[in-house]
Amino acid sequence: MTTHDRTPAATTRDAPWQRAARGANLLGDDGRLGITIFEEVTALAQQHSAINLGQGFPDEDGPREILDAARAAIADGANQYAPGQGLAVLRHAIAAHQERFYGLTVDPQTEVIVSTGATESIAAAILAFAGPGDEVLTFEPFYDSYGAVIGLSGATHTTAPLRAPDFQPDAASLEAAFSERTRIVVVNNPHNPTGSVFSRDALELIVRLAERYNAIIVTDEVYEHLTFGAEYVPIASLPGAAGRTLSISSAGKTFSVTGWKIGWLSGPAELVAQVRTAKTFLTYTSGTPFQGAVAQGLALPDEFFTQVAGTLRKKRDLLGEGLRAAGFDVVEPQGTFFTMVDAAPLGIEDATDLARRLPALIGVAAIPVAMFCHAEGAEHTRSMLRFAFCKKFDVIEEGAQRLATLRDRL
Ligand code: PMP
Ligand code: GLN
Repeated sequence: MTTHDRTPAATTRDAPWQRAARGANLLGDDGRLGITIFEEVTALAQQHSAINLGQGFPDEDGPREILDAARAAIADGANQYAPGQGLAVLRHAIAAHQERFYGLTVDPQTEVIVSTGATESIAAAILAFAGPGDEVLTFEPFYDSYGAVIGLSGATHTTAPLRAPDFQPDAASLEAAFSERTRIVVVNNPHNPTGSVFSRDALELIVRLAERYNAIIVTDEVYEHLTFGAEYVPIASLPGAAGRTLSISSAGKTFSVTGWKIGWLSGPAELVAQVRTAKTFLTYTSGTPFQGAVAQGLALPDEFFTQVAGTLRKKRDLLGEGLRAAGFDVVEPQGTFFTMVDAAPLGIEDATDLARRLPALIGVAAIPVAMFCHAEGAEHTRSMLRFAFCKKFDVIEEGAQRLATLRDRL
């Protein structure tokens, strides 16, 4: 064997990629590396020509004017690196958006950065502040990228559960989950996958605990405009929060452009500069022609945002009816693209197994909620599935009809 053929020697310590994979449930106990559940389910859906109610991406284009703006930007030569912080026009639009919707004053020069989706802002924020010996606290179930990046950072991932019936933070377990080592608390509001919109009381408690333990609040608000009547409070707007909060959002959901990967982060100048240091060496800068287009999107009139949520609410209701008729226990979401259900009434104990069979069985795909959890949370959510309703009405209707056949096919 030449030296070139030799696999590098295994070490007893986990490599960073292994910590990332373990953190996002991609690494089995046998050491086998899996793909993300979103990729796995989407591939199964394609293989069986199933209706994909798994991965959360819209199946219709967003506003015409912003698609045209991106095309025009390419034609007009906006095809080289944008500044590392993001185009000024977008940073101004983000600041104006925070002011218009939440009364938050953000300096577009020093308190905003544009990132490659919300995902990069989340990664840069965690990698900037957390490392070995630190704890990063998330709620559970949690979006998979949090677990992966906390793993990469070398910090310990701690969790506070969101449990039935309302999937709001629970005061006692949240207090118990904080410690002197908690460096960051990650909030995701509205919450994927439970669909809960955190109450003002819950958010105030998070701020008090973050103050007590001197933790940074990283809040993922990508579904900020997709709520269905519940009061939505961005945590940065609460007393005591602004000085320690990094607010993250993205164009993907609001404008149905998940493929553009334009996100942003705002917060106090000092913290933003520190995150930017990490961000600069992840991607440096993100899709120039999309940035100006997203700036136009953020400046759309209030009616656009109301209408997006209104249409999505009807889709939620339509899918909810279908899921109830199919025999699931439905958790009515207050926001996001997702409805979580319990399959236990159908005699299902292992929803992960069901999710793998569902595309072949009835031609519908969904995501098992246990994949958003570590061991203990996975026990609690073992029989639960997440269905996405960010799809055309007729697609949801067809999905509901197929779901109606499930009871007989199990
Ligand atoms: N956070 C949450 C809670 C999400 O559901 C998603 C995915 N849609 C993201 C972040 C990723 O956002 P982006 O595509 O902008 O990176
Ligand atoms: N955020 C989307 C979801 O939760 C998809 C994310 C992904 O594929 N990584 O379904």
